[in-house]
Order: sequence, then C-alpha cells, then structure tokens
Amino acid sequence: MKNKLKVLFTAAEAAPLAKVGGLGDVVGSLPKALLRLGIDVRIFLPLYGSIDRKKLDLKLISKNIIIETSAGNEKFSLWQTRLPHSRLIVYLIDHRFFSGKEIYRKNKFVEGSVGIDDIKKFTFFSCALLEAAKLINFQPNIIHLNDCHVAAVLDFLKTTYLRDNFFKKVKTLYTIHNLASQNVAKPEIIGFSKLDPDLPVIKADLADGDINFMVQGILGADLVSTVSPTYSREILTHYQGAGLEKILEKRRKDLSGITNGIDTAAYDPATDRAIKKRYSLKTVGGKTANKLSLQKKLGWPADPKLALVGVVTRLVWQKGMELLSDRILKLPARFVILGTGSQDVEDRLTALAKAYPDKLAVRIGFDEKLARQIYAAADLFLVPSRFEPCGLTQMIAMRYGTVPVVRKTGGLSDTVDPAVGFAFKKYDREALFKCLKSALDAYYNEPVRWKKLQKTGMKQDFSWDRPAKEYLKLYKKLLKIS
Ligand code: ADP
Repeated sequence: MKNKLKVLFTAAEAAPLAKVGGLGDVVGSLPKALLRLGIDVRIFLPLYGSIDRKKLDLKLISKNIIIETSAGNEKFSLWQTRLPHSRLIVYLIDHRFFSGKEIYRKNKFVEGSVGIDDIKKFTFFSCALLEAAKLINFQPNIIHLNDCHVAAVLDFLKTTYLRDNFFKKVKTLYTIHNLASQNVAKPEIIGFSKLDPDLPVIKADLADGDINFMVQGILGADLVSTVSPTYSREILTHYQGAGLEKILEKRRKDLSGITNGIDTAAYDPATDRAIKKRYSLKTVGGKTANKLSLQKKLGWPADPKLALVGVVTRLVWQKGMELLSDRILKLPARFVILGTGSQDVEDRLTALAKAYPDKLAVRIGFDEKLARQIYAAADLFLVPSRFEPCGLTQMIAMRYGTVPVVRKTGGLSDTVDPAVGFAFKKYDREALFKCLKSALDAYYNEPVRWKKLQKTGMKQDFSWDRPAKEYLKLYKKLLKIS
C-alpha cells in the first residue's frame, strides 16, 4: 500500500478521557500501538460532560454540523485534541445528548420522551462521526467499531451514506468486548435515526419486534473479532452466547479472537505516582511498603506478613462476587474490594464488610488511584468471573507482582497459567475456596515458589505490540493486501 493505512477507531469509551471499564483501557491504548506500526489511526468519541475541557488542548473544527432526525435537525460541534500523553488525534462530538456526567444511563428508549437514552444518543453519535470524518476529509480504509454503542455506523454506511463515494471503499471490523451488553431498542429508533427499515440486516433483526445493536454489529461488519481466542470459541456455545450464538454461528468463518494487551507505560510499578513506594522486578519487596500503607488507609493494624487479597471490578453479575462466602472470609487473609455497579452486589458486599470488619474492606466507587494502590499492595488478586471476554485486571495485577487467582474462563484462561497464578474451573464457592486456599498455602509455605510466580508474572509481555500486529493482519485481510 503506497499511502498510510487510515483507520477510524471508535467506541463509547477511551481512557483516560472516558472510562467505565476495560473498553476504555483498550481504546486508550490499542490505537497508540497501531500508530507505532505506522497506521494513521484516529479516535472518534463523544465529548461527555465528565471530560474536563480545561485540561485538554481543544481545537474547534466546526460548529453547527447538521444531522437529520425524526425530531428535526440536530446540530453538533466538532473538536480536535490529542489523547493525553500521546500524539494520537481524538475527534470529539459535542452535542447536548452527551452533556451528562455519566457515559451510560440505564433508561430505555421511549418515543417522545424529553430525556435522552443511551441508544438514542449513541445512534446519533454513530451518524455524527461519519459526518465528522467527511467534514475533516479523513477518508478511512478501515472503520474499526468497538461494541454495540457504535454498531449503528454499519447501518448508516448502508443507508444514509450508501451512495456517498467518500465511504465507498471502506471496510469494517466489529470487535465484541462484551457480548452481554447488547443495546436493544424499540423500532422507533430506526425512525429517529432515519435509517431504512427495509435494510435486510435491520429487517431481519426487527422481526421479533426490537432492534439489537450487538446483532447489527455482528451481521453488518465485514469481519468480527473479540478480545481473546477462548472467548471467541465460547460465544458460539449456548452457555456463553448470551442468546446470540446462532447469529454468531453465521459469522463463524469471519470471527477471530485477539487477546488484549494493557498500557504497560501507564501501568508500571516503577513509575506509578499513585502508589506509596515504587518498585520493579528487582525490588519487588517494595510491595510491602505499599501493603502497610494501604492497611493504614483502610484502618487495619499493620501486618506485613498477613496475605492481602485485592479485587478491582465493576460490581455486576458477570464478575462472580457472590462466590465470596463466609468460609472464604475465614481464610488467613484480608480482602479489599474496590468497585461500583449494581445495587444488590454493592449492598451484599457492604453487609459482608460490616460482618467481617477485620477481614474485608469494601470501597464503593470508581477510584483510579485506590485501584493502583490495591494492585501494588495486594499479594493475591481475585477474578472469579462467570464469564470474562478478556479481563485486564489480572494482567495489571501480574505487572504489579500480584499473583492472580481466577476462574478458568475466556481471556482469564488465555492469560493465567500455573507458571503465574491459580485457576479454578467450576463456578461455585467450593472451587473458589479450594483454589484460594492452595494459593494461600503457597504464599505462606513456599516462599521460593511464590517469588517465582510473582517474577514470572511481572516478566510477561502484556504490551499492545503483539495484539496490534494481529489487528494489522485483520485490516490487511479486509483490504486484501499482504
Ligand atoms: P470490564 O471491562 O469488564 O470492566 P476489565 O478487567 O477488562 O473488566 O477492565 C476493568 C478496568 O477498569 C481495569 O483497568 C480496572 O482497573 C478498572 N476498574 C474497574 N472498576 C474500577 C473502580 N471501581 N475503580 C477504578 N478502576 C476500576
């Protein structure tokens, strides 16, 4: 290819500007690695109310860009900035739909409602970003869509922009980061967005009354990928297919799995400013100072030896927090959990922490600094997920010399083997108890083995260099170039 490959990369999140979970991490780091491979990649993101405009070097590109909806013309502004600490260009779509503090809201689409629900706002975003690309004359070879929020781009390419030469040659990749979150809307959304209800992929989807944007992504893109090889196989099964296994089966040949990386520069115990004492592979003993500091912060007496088990997670059904039983809390360890999510999971954990104040500390909220302090302070890191497309926390933990204890599912299977951590298969309390107990036995009784586990974990290459090359292969496959 003579010219640089151009990739329009989009999602609802991009760290550090907008992050709820792993999607934000991926979008904030994979494009940087693609850039290093010589690709002209640019991110398109809504300008959320939670983004601190004053901290960004924002350049206004255009005001009053018009998108037609059933409710009349909507105008948006387009801004340009760079992802903090990088040269990666980010275009921000500025419209009142995104002015709220939250990235996601939970209300459903109701035609004529005053408020704006997620599906409506992301459908609007999906159209606006294509209009923005045209306006700045960024003609991509590839549009790389991440998760259902931006899947409507595929529909717009086949309706509103069908006869538009600008996008005529574009190829599309749709990456599933979490099949469980599907964005299902009432058919009114089609009218609102001025999409064509007779488009085969929409018509088929509407047959059961609703439109599912995860389905639009899976059926509408030229290629489909997901974030680990194991998850790419699991989602074809009834157990892990989230009701879409038959739809996915239709794309079996076009479906692949690429294990995520992590931002190894941003997550580095040798340079992390959030932690008490920085350390590296050679000074892993520095973890103890971090443990003592966190114990103090959580109101516990200092105890350098007593094992500390860390958890940093969205507190949702997927993450398996119900497996934490009284029996587990009686093991010789303390537990610290940082998370936010569903009320029922938060309430249960808060109640458990009240019952075991010396053993369990629960902090409800999203707190980047505390998360890093937990990764650095903990001896073990627990990820007992029901399913896990890839999972980043186990990799971040290993980077910080913290030994993972995980359920053998999805990307957890692909990233944690016996050389670096502990895993259990069956989703039940007994299996977790046994696994954690054997990990604790190793921690207390086999110091040499423990050090080796820590160091092997720290030495793993979790950088984005390898996955970025695999994505480049997919892009080339799409463009039929070698
Ligand atoms: P998921 O994408 O399902 O949320 P991942 O393991 O892929 O799970 O990614 C989670 C990311 O979000 C990690 O970077 C983790 O540190 C971060 N994270 C999750 N919950 C919190 C929280 N309450 N506070 C700070 N960071 C969090």
